[in-house]
Amino acid sequence: MIIDVHTHNSLSNCYLSIYNLKFEEASDKIASSENVLFSIGIHPWFANEFTEQLFNQMEKWVEDSKIVAIGECGLDKNSKATFNEQVTVFEKQIQISEKIHKPLIIHCVGYFNELFELKKSLQPQQLWIIHGFRGKPQLASQVLKAGCALSFGEYFNNESVLLTPINKLFVETDESNLSIDEIYRRIAAIKNISIDSLSANDLFFSKNKS
Ligand SMILES: [Zn+2]
Repeated sequence: MIIDVHTHNSLSNCYLSIYNLKFEEASDKIASSENVLFSIGIHPWFANEFTEQLFNQMEKWVEDSKIVAIGECGLDKNSKATFNEQVTVFEKQIQISEKIHKPLIIHCVGYFNELFELKKSLQPQQLWIIHGFRGKPQLASQVLKAGCALSFGEYFNNESVLLTPINKLFVETDESNLSIDEIYRRIAAIKNISIDSLSANDLFFSKNKS
């Protein structure tokens, strides 16, 4: 099953995608779309724009069965928001993920040690998927050792793809112009396996149903 685990692109009918909703479009899209999956969250770039009102609204949306993940959320060294602002907003989203049993789609730039620390201290049960992973194999190993999964898009390190077990490997288009099949093809070629063998999606969806 080909699933685009994280995209901002308009929805294609060919494959199942998890479309990352913007807050301003959430009500309309959730109400009007059929056979579409969504994620919604507060990006670390906007952690300083966080309000309780926004958060309460988000808590209502995520109850909808079309929303299958929280995100993208996380930590980013290049964000205008302070580290403390980012952690506060991220922790709130971790709590939601745990409460409603839906995984997190994580955007992490430059703060991996801090991310691992958080995971260690909070001991979440839900899957954490590091999206758009471009890191080197050493970082990939640390992420996997911390119990997270990796999602690869158009740009990735071949060695990191090679060492990621297929049950921890997701594929995404994010903002790429490449099709999801093309990215699947490239990753399957590096791993020298068939596209059908890239099966982390099953894990994600069975976990998600529980
Ligand atoms: Zn994205």
